[in-house]
Amino acid sequence: MTTSNSIPVIKGLFAETSEGPRLLGCRCATCGTLYFPKAANCQNPDCGDSKLEDASFGPHGKLYSCAVQNFPPPPPAKYDEPFAPYAVGLVDLAEGLRILGRISTDDVNGLKIGSEMELVLEPLCREDDGSEIITWKFRPI
Ligand SMILES: [Zn+2]
Repeated sequence: MTTSNSIPVIKGLFAETSEGPRLLGCRCATCGTLYFPKAANCQNPDCGDSKLEDASFGPHGKLYSCAVQNFPPPPPAKYDEPFAPYAVGLVDLAEGLRILGRISTDDVNGLKIGSEMELVLEPLCREDDGSEIITWKFRPI
């Protein structure tokens, strides 16, 4: 859930749609290769074309791998004080993409590989002016 003073971590990577959050990427119209984030050209060496069209991905996937970060990230990464360990995972989306993202859970050591996950848009940290930096995360369901 985002608020009026929410700022995306990077503009154009994700959106809240009428059907829920989605990652914004593209698909090669010729060979079907999917890209997130958007690519300028198709990178498939067997594809002779580069006709890319917008595509959105999510919200369902399965946890492929994860790791717990027990240390604060180095600058310029931002985080709220006090630092709390968080999990980062690779999620296989139903569309066929494997996406890296933070995992939204209080039980970072209880994550299970193969668990069903859903895409969520949540705060990454809060700026000094009170605005929230929003990013995509995956939450166990
Ligand atoms: Zn292609």
